[in-house]
Amino acid sequence: MFKVEDIRKDFPILDQKIHGRPLVYLDNAATSQTPQVVIDAIVEYYQNYNANIHRGVHTLSQIATDKYEEARIKIQKHFNANKPYEIIFTSGTTQSINLVASGFASLISEGDEIMISALEHHSNIVPWQMLCEKTGATLQVIPMAVEGNLRMDVFHELLNSKTKLVFCNHVSNALGIVNPIEEIISAAHNVGAAVLIDGAQATPHIKPDVQALDVDFYVASAHKLCGPTGVGMLYGKQEWLEKLPPYQGGGEMIETVTFEKTTYAGLPHKFEAGTPNICGGIAFGVALDYMNAIGFEAIRNYENELLGDATEKLLQIDGLKIYGNTSEKTAVISFNIEGIHPYDIGAILDKLGIAVRTGHHCAQPIMDFYQIPGTVRASFSFYNTKEEVDRLIEGIQKAKLMLC
Ligand SMILES: *Cc1c(COP(=O)(O)O)cnc(C)c1O
Repeated sequence: MFKVEDIRKDFPILDQKIHGRPLVYLDNAATSQTPQVVIDAIVEYYQNYNANIHRGVHTLSQIATDKYEEARIKIQKHFNANKPYEIIFTSGTTQSINLVASGFASLISEGDEIMISALEHHSNIVPWQMLCEKTGATLQVIPMAVEGNLRMDVFHELLNSKTKLVFCNHVSNALGIVNPIEEIISAAHNVGAAVLIDGAQATPHIKPDVQALDVDFYVASAHKLCGPTGVGMLYGKQEWLEKLPPYQGGGEMIETVTFEKTTYAGLPHKFEAGTPNICGGIAFGVALDYMNAIGFEAIRNYENELLGDATEKLLQIDGLKIYGNTSEKTAVISFNIEGIHPYDIGAILDKLGIAVRTGHHCAQPIMDFYQIPGTVRASFSFYNTKEEVDRLIEGIQKAKLMLC
């Protein structure tokens, strides 16, 4: 059984007051909170074995190297990658995407097409625009429908033999909608296009199997998965990672260097120039262990209960509109109240101890589609409670009284 009271004890940050009220943290889609075991792993690293990795013969360096490589294997197992070196450590989703986009510059030429979805985070739009500018390729966009789902009919029409790469998020951070990535991947492969899936928003709720998905690249950030900021991962099929050129030059990524010519190291080091976030990588592994011990099915089922409860109660509030209404959602609710700016609701909720996100959620094209300045976004995690859902509802009602 899923005991949320016990789980909350693992998160010291939750036990505090903001403006005199118990904190209700509902901004999990921006970053998740950190359990004590992950905090301990970070402290332990700096207290006991802080050393640079892969180059030292001394004992501390070997311990740090072993733990870092163990973390890579934990990530490999979690995502079911075939080989540990198909997992590249990065600073997060944004860097993972930029790594792939910059690598594709050498594989793409004028007349080629790159396709992204209308639901993308800015970190997933800009690198592709830059790639298109550099190569003369064109950017195609899979449009969205009013419920927030992708127009898959248009996707199939747009897809053709010039499409070289399709890019889509697994779950939309702005609306919480789960996209049909299986269908996208298999259709793209039919025309010979590679597929990169942004799992930053899916991985806190869903455990993806990259081999079953047959996806070419899959990326995520540790900080949305109970891990620290500044570390993330790129999964790439071995054949693709071998085809892509290195992203950055520096230490760690070379085999031999002379002033005439440098040869590059093999995978994964080719993409890991410089001293990485060693402690962060190790803590990422510990965070995955923590979440797997609870179990992703239990997490999803519990969060779905919170989502159902919150959706039902929110819809009873007069003038409240939820954006993104499909049956496949994670526990993210984006909404507005008629006549009230989302920022004003967020500011009042904060005074009541309730943390939500307001704004465009790094997805301005979605806001333009709905012709709104932004939304209020409440995003739930497995450590939230039904009492907190009620606090949110009360808070919104209070905000409405004050603002209407
Ligand atoms: C958070 C998020 C990103 C960006 O992740 P960073 O950790 O800031 O690099 C990209 N895409 C989606 C869907 C996200 O939710």
